[in-house]
Amino acid sequence: MARVENSIFEVDEDRCFGCAACVALCPVDALTLEGIMAVVDEPKCTHCEHCIPACPVHALAIVPEAD
Ligand code: SF4
Ligand code: SF4
Repeated sequence: MARVENSIFEVDEDRCFGCAACVALCPVDALTLEGIMAVVDEPKCTHCEHCIPACPVHALAIVPEAD
């Protein structure tokens, strides 16, 4: 699956509480848990969106890249 142009996958640090649901789902291991926070290795992320609906607090999104 192609990455979304000019966009990045982001974890909302204010929402994430480290449940690790997303970490377990990522097919390319782009997510790791650091303490109580999911951290993305963004260049590794394929923007497949598999993990996005799994987050109970809607902390995951693909957003336009900042200028
Ligand atoms: S969008 Fe896909 S590749 Fe990116 S972190 Fe989520 S599951 Fe992994
Ligand atoms: S599923 Fe949501 S709350 Fe759970 S670790 Fe991932 S981003 Fe954080």
